[in-house]
Amino acid sequence: MKVDFYRHSLDEKDIESVNETLRSLFLTTGPRTAAFEAKFAAYAGRKWAVGLTSCTAALHLALLALGIGEGDEVIVPAMTFYASATPVFYVGGTPVLVDVCPETGLIDPAAVERAITPKTRAIIPVHLYGVMADMRQLRTIADRHGLAIIEDAAHCVEAERDGVRPGDLGHAICYSFYATKNLASGEGGAVATDDERVADRVRLLRQHGMSKSAAERYTGLYRHWDMLELGWKYNMSDIQAALLVNQLDRLGALWQKRQAVAERYDAAFAGMPGVEIPGIVGKSARHLYTIWVDPEKRDAVLAGLQEAGVGVAVNYRAIHTLTWLKEKLGLRDDMFPVALRIGQRTLSLPFYPGLERDAQQYVIDTVRKIVNG
Ligand SMILES: *Cc1c(COP(=O)(O)O)cnc(C)c1O
Repeated sequence: MKVDFYRHSLDEKDIESVNETLRSLFLTTGPRTAAFEAKFAAYAGRKWAVGLTSCTAALHLALLALGIGEGDEVIVPAMTFYASATPVFYVGGTPVLVDVCPETGLIDPAAVERAITPKTRAIIPVHLYGVMADMRQLRTIADRHGLAIIEDAAHCVEAERDGVRPGDLGHAICYSFYATKNLASGEGGAVATDDERVADRVRLLRQHGMSKSAAERYTGLYRHWDMLELGWKYNMSDIQAALLVNQLDRLGALWQKRQAVAERYDAAFAGMPGVEIPGIVGKSARHLYTIWVDPEKRDAVLAGLQEAGVGVAVNYRAIHTLTWLKEKLGLRDDMFPVALRIGQRTLSLPFYPGLERDAQQYVIDTVRKIVNG
């Protein structure tokens, strides 16, 4: 049997929506992007959402919009995808890595507090696997020290914890619509915020720092535009937006399907020797299904699953062990022991709404055989 690691859940309506866009005037940022932004902002519970080309771009522009730059420190967990940290370098700042909680892999608020210096300007919590970081504690810490919070919600559109949803307690929240994310357009991202100045600045910086967007320049009469400041080229296209806009209506139904798949995995792994399931607090957005195994066996489990035709991934090895970051920041592997150990134990299994029962059972049986073989 062959079980893919990931399969998207696009339907005919999404494809037709793209077809309509291809037959229309605008391919780049235009009416469909605006429609998606309005619908997504409403879904996310924010006043504004600005469509971009990736979550990495979203983090970059959120940092700039919040005035973070040269010499500033930004606190980032060591257990994440490294793009949570690299945008801090883009703006001339330094990411300061901190360790995570052993039960969940989420940023540890106590470690955040210890890492704060007079140069600290912001915290980037990551809602890992779809489970929200402890936003109430983080917001209390941020307020006490006058820090901004930029949430990395690449894994997390649909979650809730302690009565808050992603974005409720952050100053800006960054989403990814990368190919394997819960809302997917191949590539894509967004910043959402309640702060109008942040939204306006992200909109300006996503398109060259130009005073008028293409839609404004080519709809109606020509008007001169100006370059107001140095910007980037991160604007979402109408093709991407057309692919995303109808998926928003299915997010709840797709979450239900992933939840059912996750519950079957949970039931199988709960008592299985040698397999641990990361803790969940509140409602998980259910982005990845990750298990933790013996670090001595992890790579053999990865190899064995692939030999058996099962797609796997590692989300993630701790980012302070990655060559460039390690050298750049002068880090040692033992500095963040919890993240290090999770990174040595972790592996992600096939997980998506359309994963069929017999394929899932095959994954479970294969894991059992390899871990206990
Ligand atoms: C995918 C991902 C990103 C980057 O998203 P892109 O849209 O690919 O730039 C950032 N952080 C985390 C946690 C991610 O999983």
